Amino acid sequence: MNIFQNLNNIKSTLPSHVTLVAVSKTKPISDLMEAYNAGQRIFGENKIQEMTEKWEQMPKDIEWHMIGHVQTNKVKYMAPYVSLIHGIDSLKLLQEINKHAAKNNRVIDCLLQVYIAEEESKFGLDEKELGEILQFVQNDNSLNNIKIVGFMGMATFTDDLNQIKKEFLYLKSLFDKHKELNTANCQLNTLSMGMSGDYQLAIECGSTIVRIGSSIFGTR
Ligand SMILES: *Cc1c(COP(=O)(O)O)cnc(C)c1O
Repeated sequence: MNIFQNLNNIKSTLPSHVTLVAVSKTKPISDLMEAYNAGQRIFGENKIQEMTEKWEQMPKDIEWHMIGHVQTNKVKYMAPYVSLIHGIDSLKLLQEINKHAAKNNRVIDCLLQVYIAEEESKFGLDEKELGEILQFVQNDNSLNNIKIVGFMGMATFTDDLNQIKKEFLYLKSLFDKHKELNTANCQLNTLSMGMSGDYQLAIECGSTIVRIGSSIFGTR
């Protein structure tokens, strides 16, 4: 595994408007530092405790993205430093993030996670719940310490590219439907979709952030 080379190969294929999150969950700090030394400054983790331990030990110019499911009782640990939370799937969670962001005098950028896969196991909002949260947030003047900047979705785990494409395009259509929203706490400019196996397709379908783990750091 040559992390430096993997990273550079992937970066050379990404259009300039697409941001790369290096998904480093389960990997040791030495691996992350290899990516850091190759210029990578955005890392994604799916467990708050693991991310916080890495944040404490690593250079402070790194942006940490929480890409996993968030438990409300752990929000406080990442509130001081997290730069983007990808997996918001309830208003309650959003309110909890707002509370801890306020305690830290910060505004935390958030993505609403939309359920686009066929599998039952994935987290996320359906179209109706998504609309309801956006409606609520726009009309609420207490949510001043979060900002919804876009959506995140995970496609079905399948080899069927047509299926995956359909799901990505569905998420893009929801994004387009809501992208005119323009309040202090809601301005959509980010679409997080695509992982090691499907990021090229995701970019074709309008992704602006890809979350890539195994193609950079090897299998977990
Ligand atoms: C692990 C993970 C990824 C990265 O997956 P790879 O297939 O290793 O690139 C992306 N997004 C989420 C939400 C993940 O949990």
